[in-house]
Amino acid sequence: MTRKPLLGNRHFSRALNRSAVLNTIKTHGPIGRAEVARRTGLSAATVTGITAELIADDLVFEKAAGDSRGGRPPILLALNPRGGFVVGLKLTETEAIAALTDLQATVIAKRTDRLAGRSPERAVNTLANAVAELVGEARIRKGKLIGVGVGVAGIVDSEHGLVRQSPYFGWQNLPLRDLLQSRVRVPVFIDNDVNTLTLAEKWFGAGQSVDNFLTVTVGRGVGLGIVVNGQFYRGATGGAGEFGHTVMDPNGPVCDCGKHGCLESFVGDPGLVRMAAEAAARGELPGPVADVQSLLALAQAGSPAAQAIFARAGEMLGRGVANLINIFNPQLVLISGEGVRSGDWLFGPMREAIARHVMPGLAGDAEIRTDSWGDDAWARGAASLVLRGLFESPVHQEPVGSSETA
Ligand SMILES: [Zn+2]
Repeated sequence: MTRKPLLGNRHFSRALNRSAVLNTIKTHGPIGRAEVARRTGLSAATVTGITAELIADDLVFEKAAGDSRGGRPPILLALNPRGGFVVGLKLTETEAIAALTDLQATVIAKRTDRLAGRSPERAVNTLANAVAELVGEARIRKGKLIGVGVGVAGIVDSEHGLVRQSPYFGWQNLPLRDLLQSRVRVPVFIDNDVNTLTLAEKWFGAGQSVDNFLTVTVGRGVGLGIVVNGQFYRGATGGAGEFGHTVMDPNGPVCDCGKHGCLESFVGDPGLVRMAAEAAARGELPGPVADVQSLLALAQAGSPAAQAIFARAGEMLGRGVANLINIFNPQLVLISGEGVRSGDWLFGPMREAIARHVMPGLAGDAEIRTDSWGDDAWARGAASLVLRGLFESPVHQEPVGSSETA
């Protein structure tokens, strides 16, 4: 199966060459045409034809090289970051977070809208309005919006644009991509939210220089994005990475998924709040807390019980991450998501647990990095979904483990 090229209806091989040229200019620019031809293996005539098209589309511009060794200064090609724009959307349980970015995934404008309800119609309505508002406010010309990316928690079939299962909304096999596309009238891409965040790291962040890395997100739930040999791993049907539902204690508390003792039920926000309520019932905390921020404030104020709750969660998370390192032998594990705000109360014990449980031979290989966190990171990740379509050759967009062949 070939994917429809993102821009226009050009022949597939033409789309391949165009992606290759554009990606070479993005990665190695400013760069001369001859060097582009050398790196892509395309003929000089093909490169000249494609770059003329990219310049006409405003995606690439020409600049004269500063230093010339006599004669005509060579003309170099560079990516025009403002040659096109994309909107990234992240659906949370209660909100739509939206960001307008340029071609380098730099956020230009953002907004957050509360969802009026959990029905697909209301959610699509909120998403479509957010796109229209952002494009209008930033005065983006019609035709400059290349596409819209959406990240949503749960099991997502990005190939067919379906939300196969959303634990928060109760949606099953919802054709979210087509519903939104009929409203915004530009190509829409959807994926699991953790995958979109991982994609942003792969294309624009810490994952650019490593071929094997994992993104672990901590917040409302616990998620995992997997990059193996430079490619996403999604599993046979797109459900890979449900790290939050690996079992830590079969006799543990009931999880959102209906099973007992999942990692998420100890580390996710509701799990921390539940443990605080239990500590309050034992008289160890003055009372139950409304949210993780309040629990964090108690820990910072010196409450041993609040600190112990984060330590227990961190220990559980560390055991889980140690198991991941034993399975994947990654170069890098990025810890991201809203839970990063808990800082060393959570991640100190996590690092200790990782050190305790990773197989000795593998311990030194994986760098554990805690990301700084901004509210727009999710939306920026969703925007990267569109940008990948622009820069990555269509044959490389097939997910690892897909039953379809290119
Ligand atoms: Zn679960």
